[in-house]
Amino acid sequence: MIKEKRFGLRQLWSGFIDIIYPPFCLVCNIKLSQGEHVICSHCWDKLIPTHLGNWQNEVTHKEGLDYVLTGWFFDEIFQNIIHSLKYKEMRIVAKELGLRLGKMFLTELQYLKLDVVIPVPLHPAKLRSRGFNQSDLIGKSLSKVIGVPYDFKILKRTKNTQSQTTLGIDERKLNVSEAFSVSSSPSYKRYLIVDDVLTTGATLAGCAFALREKKAEFIAVITSGTPKIEA
Ligand SMILES: [Zn+2]
Repeated sequence: MIKEKRFGLRQLWSGFIDIIYPPFCLVCNIKLSQGEHVICSHCWDKLIPTHLGNWQNEVTHKEGLDYVLTGWFFDEIFQNIIHSLKYKEMRIVAKELGLRLGKMFLTELQYLKLDVVIPVPLHPAKLRSRGFNQSDLIGKSLSKVIGVPYDFKILKRTKNTQSQTTLGIDERKLNVSEAFSVSSSPSYKRYLIVDDVLTTGATLAGCAFALREKKAEFIAVITSGTPKIEA
């Protein structure tokens, strides 16, 4: 009896998910199979992994960053995924990104002996208007996969910085310097900061700066994507 009831609820839930998320892949438009949401597994598998390992040395603003990992290079599929997440609030995509990132770097991340996973925060005003922080959603899902505690309250964004996309490299750095503060005196020493994309690294370096002031000893960052590095 109880089993039947649970089954019914599950059916109801998956029907509900189908209403929220259209049953076709956002990228290739084929009908999604059971268990797939928004993006089909074929499209997920077509993403181009960076295979960069720790690419800290190649990041423009690496100040304060000890270890840098990135899942995939920007391509059309990746842009679609990020767009669906950021502008269409498809939270389920963020969960999948976190899950896949965590699995991709599981051994490396466990080896780093991290104390905590934290997201790059949004300014409260931006969080209010957007309703969610995509890095928070990715981070939460990733932390479960790697078995490291998650804490979204430590780091706060104190300045509502201008969108980075129109700024040059030096302006970006200036834009995020002193944009973050650490709320209390955390007991953590080894951090993993999560962001959706990495371009110059200025935002993450800004986070690292604030955490170092509170005695952080090791700062690793992980992002889902990055533009292709020009040779
Ligand atoms: Zn597809």
